[in-house]
Amino acid sequence: MPDIIFKGFMYLLSLAQSGDQHMTHVVTSTCVDHKYQECVVVCPVEAFREADTYLVIDPDECIDCGACIPECPVDAIFADTDVPDEEEYWIERNAVESVDAEIAEGDSPVLAD
Ligand code: SF4
Repeated sequence: MPDIIFKGFMYLLSLAQSGDQHMTHVVTSTCVDHKYQECVVVCPVEAFREADTYLVIDPDECIDCGACIPECPVDAIFADTDVPDEEEYWIERNAVESVDAEIAEGDSPVLAD
């Protein structure tokens, strides 16, 4: 099993087993092919990670402050409890894809306006 899948699985398993109420924020599909950087700049804990065409949030780093939500020009960021039903698969994508991704520095190219 690839390491990234194993770590994502273990993360989800640990939440299920512990009943952990840890919350996080989540980047969803409207970030894809935009990758604006305003959210990264305001994050106090460097929780954003780089994917090729979008950003994700590392749930182990996010302190749930909400500062990034109003900064996103395409309304891509939600608290995990507020993610629209059709976007819920992004909760797992953020957790899994952030494991081995580079920390976002806020200087990636914006892909499209
Ligand atoms: S909610 Fe706060 S800590 Fe979490 S990603 Fe957004 S700015 Fe960073």
